[in-house]
Amino acid sequence: MLALRRAPEALLRARAQGPPGAGGAGARALAGAGAGTSAAALAGAERGGGGLGEAAAARRLREMGWDPGAAAAAAPSRALLPREAPGPGMLTDRHGRHHSYLRVSLTERCNLRCTYCMPAEGLQLTPREALLQPEELLRLVRLFARGGVSKVRLTGGEPTVRRDLEEVVAALRGVPGVEHVAMTTNGLVLRRDRLRALRRAGLDAMNISLDTLREDRFEATTRRRGHARVLRAIREAAEEGFDRLKVNVVVQRGGNCDEVLDFVGLTRDLPLNVRFIEWMPFDGNVWSDKKMVPYRELRARVEAAFPGRLRRLNDPRGEVAKNFQLDGFRGSVSFITSMTENFCGDCNRIRLMADGNLKACLFGSNEVSLRDAIRAGFDDEELAALVKAALSRKKARHAGMFSLAASKNRAMTHIGG
Ligand code: SAM
Ligand code: SF4
Repeated sequence: MLALRRAPEALLRARAQGPPGAGGAGARALAGAGAGTSAAALAGAERGGGGLGEAAAARRLREMGWDPGAAAAAAPSRALLPREAPGPGMLTDRHGRHHSYLRVSLTERCNLRCTYCMPAEGLQLTPREALLQPEELLRLVRLFARGGVSKVRLTGGEPTVRRDLEEVVAALRGVPGVEHVAMTTNGLVLRRDRLRALRRAGLDAMNISLDTLREDRFEATTRRRGHARVLRAIREAAEEGFDRLKVNVVVQRGGNCDEVLDFVGLTRDLPLNVRFIEWMPFDGNVWSDKKMVPYRELRARVEAAFPGRLRRLNDPRGEVAKNFQLDGFRGSVSFITSMTENFCGDCNRIRLMADGNLKACLFGSNEVSLRDAIRAGFDDEELAALVKAALSRKKARHAGMFSLAASKNRAMTHIGG
């Protein structure tokens, strides 16, 4: 904790260097950040705008009594840190995008080991004491809601492994301004009583991930048993009134690619939204473009099977999916095209990771530890300034898929999908 108090500027980092422990987090974070990058972000935040140039930022920081080239111990005093009134300005980036949708990774742990997501042995977990505590999470969600966040999605890792999930949902639902609390889950342990408890707590939408309709393939993909349990969870969730139920399907060539039309078939009689997701590269998931199936190929396949019947629906603002419906079908079909047709121009999402890092872009390397800031005693205006600084560095769009595959990013379970 003392180390954190000495190095608040390290909260703005270029990227986390593995899971930070409670003690040396500041130093490690600083090692991962170019000093000038921190300077630019801090100075940009202070003037409440879209970030100064590197040189101007360094000059401004020196005026504040901090030499950006020097070691962590030469940090500006708390009194000199920038401040920002928590409000909509804090969540609007320099490309004019307002961020009203917060995705929260509740845990890095998971009860499955999907091959496209993580290695068989799992991933190194952040030590418990370095994870965001419930009261810290609540404080941050209150802050974000003051900035205009109206929708929170709980994800992970697997959010249902949290025993206090229902309490977390109820607490977040009670935050003024938060109108929707949704969850993405693998559905493995979602029995009817849990579904009811979550509904009572205020969970109003759910995405359940299921990549195959074949039991043997489920075991091969997730490295665990439980296909029937997930199918039952989908059915019971619909029965319990989760009426905007979505089924997430990550499509892989040589894997479940031959099941696309079977999934589309589910929407004939069931009011489900089946979402085909292009496979994305993250640390530990051994991505290959050969196995990634582009949206246009998938769509062509559906059109060929149902000639003239695939209708494009109007996509709501901020929607990342391209939404379709087959004439006469109850449900709908969507494509998430992150790899082949990015939707960055409309992006309204920010991500809070289980370790308290804020990530402005799923594929961006910039992270800022709001956990460290809270534990260093930052007030809400200082936290708001950090958030604004992080957003001011968000790029207009993420890189193309081959650059992404070649660059480092944390594992999906750490970021929260
Ligand atoms: N464990 C929960 C689940 O599987 O639904 C929530 C976390 S998971 C990371 C969130 C979503 O991301 C899931 O729908 C999952 O299929 C998807 N996902 C995981 N790894 C992915 C990848 N590399 N590319 C695209 N989607 C991925
Ligand atoms: Fe776990 Fe979800 Fe990743 Fe599968 S996709 S390993 S269920 S976090």
